[in-house]
Amino acid sequence: MRLLIKHCSIVNPGNNYEGFNDIYIEDGVIKLIEPEIVMAAERTIDAAGLYLMPGFIDMHAHLREPGFEHNETVYSGTRAAARGGYTTICCMPNTRPVIDDEASLSKLMGIIEKDAAIKVHPIAAISKGQKSTELVEMDKLFNMGAVAFSDDGRPVETAAFMMEALLAAKANDYIIIDHCEELSLAAGGVINQGRQSEKLGIRGIHPLSEELSVMRDIMIAEATDFRIHIAHVSTASSAEIIRAAKRRGVKVTCEVTPHHIGLTEDIIKAGFTDCKVNPPLRTAADVEALKEALKDGTIDVIATDHAPHHADSKGEDFYSAAFGISGIETAFSVCYTELVEPGILTLKDLSARMSKNPATILKLDGGIIGIGSSADLVIVDTRRRITVNRDDFLSKGKNTPFHGKTYVGDIVYTIVDGSIVYESK
Ligand SMILES: [Zn+2]
Repeated sequence: MRLLIKHCSIVNPGNNYEGFNDIYIEDGVIKLIEPEIVMAAERTIDAAGLYLMPGFIDMHAHLREPGFEHNETVYSGTRAAARGGYTTICCMPNTRPVIDDEASLSKLMGIIEKDAAIKVHPIAAISKGQKSTELVEMDKLFNMGAVAFSDDGRPVETAAFMMEALLAAKANDYIIIDHCEELSLAAGGVINQGRQSEKLGIRGIHPLSEELSVMRDIMIAEATDFRIHIAHVSTASSAEIIRAAKRRGVKVTCEVTPHHIGLTEDIIKAGFTDCKVNPPLRTAADVEALKEALKDGTIDVIATDHAPHHADSKGEDFYSAAFGISGIETAFSVCYTELVEPGILTLKDLSARMSKNPATILKLDGGIIGIGSSADLVIVDTRRRITVNRDDFLSKGKNTPFHGKTYVGDIVYTIVDGSIVYESK
């Protein structure tokens, strides 16, 4: 398959080949990048007025398979991801069974091989059954294709076990991703503890639940002189703790979700459980601090924490509803509108946080555009306005608090190894 993309404006966090160019792709690889290419191709795209960037890489998505196929599958989730401009995603291991041994990982990789529309790398659990007691066999799972280790959905419960995990990972420079939550401060809470929880009479999760755990992980990373990645940072204090740690040389990286920068707790109202998520939506001051942390590089990555749920798992009761937001199809539009439109990030900054930086942390290909690199690309229209309609989602999870909201910036094409895997109407 030969693909020719004409007149595109290239945004490249890899720094080369920026500006207006044509791109010629053959056998899944970028062969030529020049101002004017005249070559025969099976398909030619006129990208005048559009931006072309490295395909997005999501280092935190839940595909729910195996075990929870009514919420999402590898098939549906990867098509949703393609629609969101993602060419690579990493799926979290909190499935049924948990991805914690060779048999479960092998089965998952078989499903990926058969059903995935884009590149999918599994993340294996840190502990057997995500119980924070017995480490998985990291070497075996890494050699089979796991790119990282995380008990996400649950925290690593004790400091001792986190130290054991980091020391085990350090031997081969594997990356540990922690969902930071001090359970004793979170128990029973379902939204942020503060003004909104008091007003609505809904039990809150204290922000310290996250912040103490972030501090704990950073201090253990510092003591073991090894790196750690903090998932879904959501409070101003967490960002400040990470900023200070980076300044003194701790090897910590972190991510934020589009919903934690695009929404505040003020949208929460009785029955609106689509905004129930863990960590919870925070205050406007937290959102401002997270944006600042993205700008100054404290936060390295934007990851979706795509958490699709069937409507049966949500309901109107905040206590019984599942945590999670189906966010992979709206990520770019929300981030472009919240970060690039107001001038907090350039489009190139946003591109780096959605592709190059996660690739660097996970040591994956991608995140740059160059001759000889895989043609994993996204083409976006930054003028097009979209109104989010969950009924149009390709994800099985329609649980989005963004439903009905209007954003600017949309995905026009997603290209994996030179093949068009998504094309907007
Ligand atoms: Zn999590």
